[in-house]
Amino acid sequence: DHPFFRQALPIVERLEASGYEAYFVGGAVRDLFLSRPIHDVDIATSATPSEVKSLFTHTVDVGIDHGTILVLHNGTGFEVTTFRIESEYSDFRRPDHVEFVRSLYEDLKRRDFTMNAMAMNKAGKWIDPFHGKDDMQKGIVRTVGRAAERFSEDALRMMRAARFVSQLSFNLDKETKKAMEEHAPLLGHIAVERKLNEIDKLLAGRDRRRALWALIETNLYRFLPGLREQKEAFIRLAKLPLEPLTVEQVWVVMAYLCANHDAAPFLKDWRLPQKRIKRIVQSIRTLKQLKAEGASDWLLFQSGLQSAVDAAIAAAVLSGQEVDLKEVTSRFESLPIKSRHDLAITGKELMEWADKPRGVWIKEVLERTEKAVIAGDVRNDRMEIERWLRTCNLL
Ligand code: ATP
Ligand code: MG
Repeated sequence: DHPFFRQALPIVERLEASGYEAYFVGGAVRDLFLSRPIHDVDIATSATPSEVKSLFTHTVDVGIDHGTILVLHNGTGFEVTTFRIESEYSDFRRPDHVEFVRSLYEDLKRRDFTMNAMAMNKAGKWIDPFHGKDDMQKGIVRTVGRAAERFSEDALRMMRAARFVSQLSFNLDKETKKAMEEHAPLLGHIAVERKLNEIDKLLAGRDRRRALWALIETNLYRFLPGLREQKEAFIRLAKLPLEPLTVEQVWVVMAYLCANHDAAPFLKDWRLPQKRIKRIVQSIRTLKQLKAEGASDWLLFQSGLQSAVDAAIAAAVLSGQEVDLKEVTSRFESLPIKSRHDLAITGKELMEWADKPRGVWIKEVLERTEKAVIAGDVRNDRMEIERWLRTCNLL
């Protein structure tokens, strides 16, 4: 009895009333058992997609080829997927060809791990043919069926296994772990975007260190972008106290350690969005300056608050020291200007005062001015800045 399941109940009831089987399945059922937050409830049914569509007035074909129909009910969308098997696996990826079946058991059997291969009916009765509950109680990630076979079908499952280690603080079952070691090279067939999705979840999970060790012990890390030759650096990462960090901060530390001093190409190989790359690269630049010259108001200003905080935390984790984030924040708050926008003058005024055309000199003079304002040599006031510029012969 959980609000999410209660909301979805009428859909299950409707399907059953029409003579079909319908169950709650997948991550939500697992998370219910583990008392973890539930985000979306998936329903599996013996009804075919067209049968599902004929039963409900508001539906969206979100993945009709894979048997998934989104049923809109009271403003919420629920994914209703026809029982299916994934018959042919070519090239170690999830197949695009699926076959619909009428048996729940067959549908559960094609799922990756025992904890993800459970179903619950509308009365709250569990269908757990692969003993997912036992494994969850023991805290074990175990494939449904032979691990070697399941990872050969779809190599991404190995990343999913490591990601669940992190999210759930579980351990890998022995056979599952051995098969990961043996099949790690198959990760080479998987699109980087899908690996990125899993690594982000892994790095966000509370037991990220345990999961990083799993990647090392199984050699999976060698088949991730930019990490093949980075064993030592990656081990160093896994030994750090990463628990209090945000995902983005872990990326800062990872790229700093593993990217051979040039983070941008490393992050591009991971296909991170440009915005994330920019932020991480800036944080690493600040981190390096922090290590070289220590903290200063000028560095804080140049990096911006977000990168300054990420860099300060990364520096602390790398050196095993404590960091006082309140100090970073309050120091930033007391800067006379927080970005170039705050400066009381613009390039346009410089051109008027100096009566000179546009050119690189503007950028240089603006930076000199920012430095002087940050250092307290001149107040951030239009007239005072003009006077100061003239005294320094900068106009
Ligand atoms: P999350 O909480 O991150 O959504 P999840 O277990 O729900 O975790 P999804 O990717 O949403 O993961 O997949 C839903 C279900 O589909 C899984 O619980 C699992 O049963 C099945 N599944 C997903 N990916 C695979 C895969 N690669 N191979 C086999 N079954 C899979
Ligand atoms: Mg899910």
